[in-house]
Amino acid sequence: MKPEPAIKSKPFPWRCPRCLEKSVHLATIPYTAQGRGDGQLHVVEIPALRIPQCNKCGELVFTESVDEQIQEAMRARRMGSVPVK
Ligand SMILES: [Zn+2]
Repeated sequence: MKPEPAIKSKPFPWRCPRCLEKSVHLATIPYTAQGRGDGQLHVVEIPALRIPQCNKCGELVFTESVDEQIQEAMRARRMGSVPVK
């Protein structure tokens, strides 16, 4: 696993990469993620993913934090259990 560059999180709202409006806020949405692991394609449903989303056009902005949530869900799925928070 390679180290990620440190990304400072800026205060919301962010500027949207698609419509360029300053309307990106942190949202909690149900999300179906796909990823590869163990040479197989895994699909994992995340009922409450915290991800920055544009209020204007609905664009989702993937960040390191979003990636971590997806990786965690993938790991939990591989172990056949769901983490309890
Ligand atoms: Zn937008």
